[in-house]
Amino acid sequence: DSSLSLMLQAFPFGNQRHLLLVQNVTDLQKADAMRRDFVANVSHEMRTPITVLMGFLETVQSLELEKDQRDQYFEMMMSQAQRMKSLVEDLLTLANLEANALPAATNQVNVETLMALLKNDAEALSHGNHSFTFEVLDKNNLLGDEREILSAFSNLVSNAIRYTPDAGAIHVKWLVNADGQGEFSVMDTGPGIAAEHLSRLTERFYRVDRSRSRDTGGTGLGLAIVKHIASRHQAQLTIESIPGKGSTFMLRFPKERLSS
Ligand code: ADP
Repeated sequence: DSSLSLMLQAFPFGNQRHLLLVQNVTDLQKADAMRRDFVANVSHEMRTPITVLMGFLETVQSLELEKDQRDQYFEMMMSQAQRMKSLVEDLLTLANLEANALPAATNQVNVETLMALLKNDAEALSHGNHSFTFEVLDKNNLLGDEREILSAFSNLVSNAIRYTPDAGAIHVKWLVNADGQGEFSVMDTGPGIAAEHLSRLTERFYRVDRSRSRDTGGTGLGLAIVKHIASRHQAQLTIESIPGKGSTFMLRFPKERLSS
């Protein structure tokens, strides 16, 4: 990068060791900048619902409200509190995943059981507004951490539901592909994602459309969590999307993570 090439121009005879040192400093600077960004983002994400909540509290406190109106305010306050709760929960999940350098456990995880749970939750979240298919095309168990796998799968399904307009379709599938890898995929007929965003979606708090994500109850951390869980299982997350047509999110597990 630019600071590295500047140093190289300044010290053209620098040996390998000098080079390495310069590289490490820029890495540290980058890590530090990322940490500062993260703290700023978290503070902002926390402050917004608190500010809104305080506004509602003041209104309820200062105005004589009819019962109906008051109930409405309480509902809005509850939803702001819920937003903070989701954010804190996702931050904790992420912190725990990052603190754990070991690969994920290798417990037998029955994908068919997980699919049944996902289906139940999906139907509740969608309120009957989407059409679903859940297919289990292979009986292999996954070797992993059940809670983490369920969390990754359900993040992808809930994203599909949250971003796909009413009457859209969502297809969830588990199979073993020709290379012997386990494939979990979620396909939706939502708005799709323009190519320039794809590589950044798993960054913490990266969103294509800020207000849309918040309206749907998103914390901006879901895909960062999925990416971590995938990497702890040596799995790969791929995202394919055609703007205007829909998206497919896929997790591919190596055959070492499957058991018959
Ligand atoms: P969020 O809480 O904002 O949904 P995520 O990390 O889960 O956070 O997703 C990051 C961004 O990726 C979202 O804000 C949205 O712009 C985009 N995204 C995720 N899933 C989908 C999807 N199925 N269809 C369209 N866009 C999506």
